[in-house]
Amino acid sequence: MEILLAIFILFIRLLYKFVWNSPDRIGRRGEKEVERILSKLPDSHYKVLNDVLIKIDGTSVQIDHIVISTYGIFVIETKNYSGWIIGKEMSREWTQCIYDFRHTFYNPIKQNHGHVSVLRSILGLSTDFFVPIVVFTDRAELKITSQSTVIYANELLETIKRYNTQILFDLETLLNKINSRIISDENARLLHKISVQNKVQRQENLRNSRLDEGKCPDCGNDLMVYHGKYGVFIGCCGYPYCQYSRNL
Ligand SMILES: [Zn+2]
Repeated sequence: MEILLAIFILFIRLLYKFVWNSPDRIGRRGEKEVERILSKLPDSHYKVLNDVLIKIDGTSVQIDHIVISTYGIFVIETKNYSGWIIGKEMSREWTQCIYDFRHTFYNPIKQNHGHVSVLRSILGLSTDFFVPIVVFTDRAELKITSQSTVIYANELLETIKRYNTQILFDLETLLNKINSRIISDENARLLHKISVQNKVQRQENLRNSRLDEGKCPDCGNDLMVYHGKYGVFIGCCGYPYCQYSRNL
C-alpha cells in the first residue's frame, strides 16, 4: 500500500513538473496575467489583441499582446520568469539566475523589435507610431541596463497611459489590416509552435558546436581574453558589433 502511495505521489510530482510547471505553461500564465491587466483599459480608446499569430511572407510570428489606440500601437512581449534577470539592451541573450541555476534566453527587446517590424510592414506605419514594451511578472527581479521600456506587469497600465497625444485616427482600418493576417486555426497554431521549438533547437545546436570549436556562440568569430574593470573575462573579437562575453 505504501509503495502504491509513494508511486502516486511521484506521479503527481512529475505531472506538476512537466505539465503544470512546463516552460510553456508558465509562459501562458504570464500572458494571462498581462491579459487581465490590459482588460482594464477602456475599450472605447484601446483595442487589445492577445496571443496573436500573424502570417507574413510564408511564415508566422506570435505576438503576446498588441494594444491599438489613438496614442500609438503598444507591442508587448511578456516574460514570466522568476529569479534575477540580467541583461543589456544590445546583448543577444539575457540570463535568468536562481542561486546557481543559470538559463539564457533571447533578448526580449530584440525579439519585440522583430514584432514591431512585422506590424510596420503590415500597417505601413513608421516606428514613431509604435511603443515596444517588455513586461516581466513580479516573479522576476530585474537587473537590466536598457533605454527601452522593460517593466514589471504592475507598471504596465501607467506606462501605457503616459502616452496621451493623439497620433492615430483610423483605428478600425488598422484593426482590420491586422485581423486579415491573424491565424486562428488551431492546427496552424500548433504547427507554428513546433516550428519555433525546432528553430530554437537548431540555434542551440549551432551555438554549442561553435563553443566546442572555441568560437563565439553568437557570431562564430574568435574569442579573446579581455582585462576589464571587474577582472579578466572572455569576449568576442567582434566587439562592439558582437557583445558576447562570459566570466573566466
Ligand atoms: Zn561574437
